[in-house]
Amino acid sequence: MTPFSYARVTDNAEAIRLARVTPGARYLGGGTNLIDLMRETIEQPAALVDVTALSRTIEARADGSMLIGAAARNTAVAADRAVRERFPVLSRAILAGASAQIRNMATTAGNLMQRTRCYYFYDDAARCNKRDPGAGCDAIDGFNRIHAILGASPACIATHPSDMCVALAALDARVHAEGPNGARTLRLVDFHRLPGGRPDLETELAPGELITAIEIPPLPFAGNSMYRKVRDRASYAFALVSVAAALDVGPDGTIRDVRIALGGVAHKPWRAFAAEAALRGLPATEASFRAAAEAELKDAAGLRHNAFKIELAKRVITATLAGISGDARA
Ligand SMILES: Cc1cc2nc3c(=O)[nH]c(=O)nc-3n(C[C@H](O)[C@H](O)[C@H](O)COP(=O)(O)OP(=O)(O)OC[C@H]3O[C@@H](n4cnc5c(N)ncnc54)[C@H](O)[C@@H]3O)c2cc1C
Ligand code: SF4
Repeated sequence: MTPFSYARVTDNAEAIRLARVTPGARYLGGGTNLIDLMRETIEQPAALVDVTALSRTIEARADGSMLIGAAARNTAVAADRAVRERFPVLSRAILAGASAQIRNMATTAGNLMQRTRCYYFYDDAARCNKRDPGAGCDAIDGFNRIHAILGASPACIATHPSDMCVALAALDARVHAEGPNGARTLRLVDFHRLPGGRPDLETELAPGELITAIEIPPLPFAGNSMYRKVRDRASYAFALVSVAAALDVGPDGTIRDVRIALGGVAHKPWRAFAAEAALRGLPATEASFRAAAEAELKDAAGLRHNAFKIELAKRVITATLAGISGDARA
């Protein structure tokens, strides 16, 4: 491991100042991803600015929204009573990820910023455009079972590994950030990038910008929501395909509103806008759910080892929505 300096800060301004004046500095959350990457020499920051003493607030506001501090641990968010009541899909998504020990360490901001689990990214003997821009991509003709079926590019077919972010995408969360040029707010669905020709750029965050909080706007029907994750093992495995969804069905059985996001299928948490648009006004039946899933996956493209994900995603969308609408009627 390359030598690095370490500083623990207690306010946002000091974190931003240290990151600006120390070349090669990185913010450190729970370290569950960054330290692994440093051990593998994939990342070699010259300085770590420990931001775990910054805001851990989990605030339930009177208007139904919530504000979650960047340093709030994944375990605390998943266990919070207001999160479980207002946004059960978020609690379930977090609990579907990693292990209890990792969730105890992992922070909200770190979860957003965690890097892909593409095997070739972690193997410095492999060609990888994300690690080494212009080098090529060994996943495209390699073992690509866990890779993207939506929004991929000839430069990179990696997926974003987070479960939590899939729920946040469905809930239309906002990311609050602060940097040398001031504070701003981004929609989570715009925060992560598709790979295009620059897979090394994974988010819209500028160098040195600090995530300070996540805000979840009110969504009255979010109590009627579910997270479903399909993976190779029952625990301690990343999603092959996951679905976060919330459904609002009227008394006549018509879908009034719906939110759907997919994980394990793209370089970013994938908000299923086409499926949502297809569903509004339709009867809440399995046929409607399947048709919406077909609409969302219309442009999906599979490779040698991951083409199965296209049908899998359609089935998981259909089953998740059918499960929620069944619960709503029960
Ligand atoms: C064995 C294993 C299994 C896992 N399984 C799953 C799984 O099934 N599902 C899942 O979703 N996740 C899984 N994870 C990933 C885990 O959720 C992430 O490692 C964790 O969320 C990262 O959070 P952290 O606080 O430890 O981040 P760190 O490792 O500390 O940092 C990660 C990145 O975030 C940046 N960062 C941290 N805080 C800030 C900030 N405030 N502003 C800007 N940037 C910041 C860091 O600079 C770094 O780039 C797994 C991890 C392991 C090791
Ligand atoms: S898919 Fe992306 S992360 Fe994986 S080897 Fe190719 S360029 Fe690297």
